[in-house]
Amino acid sequence: MLNVSRPSLGIEEELALRDCIKEGWVSYRGPKVSEFERKFAAYIGTDYAVACSSGTSALHLALLALGIGPGDEVIVPALTFIATANAVSYTGAKPVFVDSHINYWCMDPGDLESKITSKTCAIIPVHLYGHPCDMDQILSIARSYNLKIVEDCAESLGAEISLGKCGNLGDVGCFSFFANKIITCGEGGMCTTNDKTLADNMRIYGDHGTPGRPYGHDRIGYNYRLTSLQAAVGLAQLNKISDFLARRSLIRSWYDTYLPKGLVSMPEEPWAKSVNWIYTCLLNWGTDVEKVRSLLLKEGIETRPVFETLTNMPPYKSDEKFPMAFNYKVRGLSLPTYLDLTELDIIYICGSLKEALR
Ligand SMILES: *Cc1c(COP(=O)(O)O)cnc(C)c1O
Repeated sequence: MLNVSRPSLGIEEELALRDCIKEGWVSYRGPKVSEFERKFAAYIGTDYAVACSSGTSALHLALLALGIGPGDEVIVPALTFIATANAVSYTGAKPVFVDSHINYWCMDPGDLESKITSKTCAIIPVHLYGHPCDMDQILSIARSYNLKIVEDCAESLGAEISLGKCGNLGDVGCFSFFANKIITCGEGGMCTTNDKTLADNMRIYGDHGTPGRPYGHDRIGYNYRLTSLQAAVGLAQLNKISDFLARRSLIRSWYDTYLPKGLVSMPEEPWAKSVNWIYTCLLNWGTDVEKVRSLLLKEGIETRPVFETLTNMPPYKSDEKFPMAFNYKVRGLSLPTYLDLTELDIIYICGSLKEALR
């Protein structure tokens, strides 16, 4: 079976775990978590990084540290994984949805300004499928309305624009280390920031609200800690990131070469450096994506539909229309994207897709 995604784990991760077990570093205590934070911050280019238990808890911690809560509104894309909106809901604030751009999946800055009200406190640009948002425009809108920016970088570790790496462009960057992300440690997350107060508060919120002495709790916090076992695996993965990204770029170029004619290949704007998270193309209008998916599955090729528009599901149901998000949702097809794939695999996948479309 050619899966949509597979983690790339090797002897380095195995040895790192063995060290933790030998030395007894299994919880968040010990040197591994802070080493992971230090190296991660250095890679993104921020002054601080705070490790946590998942991408979702990273988003929640960022919003808590920014003081977002009941009565506030936070703008999120209509097309994203549901965790982006859920993190807003956890704080008691209300997610407000914005449509995707016509050329690529991320939020359309042109649709953003009309969603701002007197209650809007923050925007969460999601660098979807590895492609950066148009941060030049989003930052300039945020500045003129005095809004905070929390970047959802769960799918885009290593992506960049001329201003810098994703995760170093707003107030906080939030990363995920789930099994299918750019690097993984099973489950895990990271918040990046250049603001010491935000970093301190994210750490306190994620560790039971404990700013200093043990059991001196100053607020209701959470247990969002990362373990040393996860940090050790994360460190081993981070060491290999440039190879990982080079391989993803090669896989992307093979797909671009062999994709059946007439389909829309994975976008990459001239100002953006994508990390090609999961190769996602657009089929023609009217194609039955589910039929194509089941035909490909018979050939041993697992695929995935694009995220459901959040306002089409019970938690965020509304009649508001998001034509571009709808377009991507209806036509999008995500193809296998993991590092062990060979050029022959991609030729096979694209050939099978061509057959299925016939
Ligand atoms: C994966 C993902 C998350 C959540 O990360 P977890 O580690 O699974 O909690 C959030 N946002 C986006 C866009 C994601 O793809």
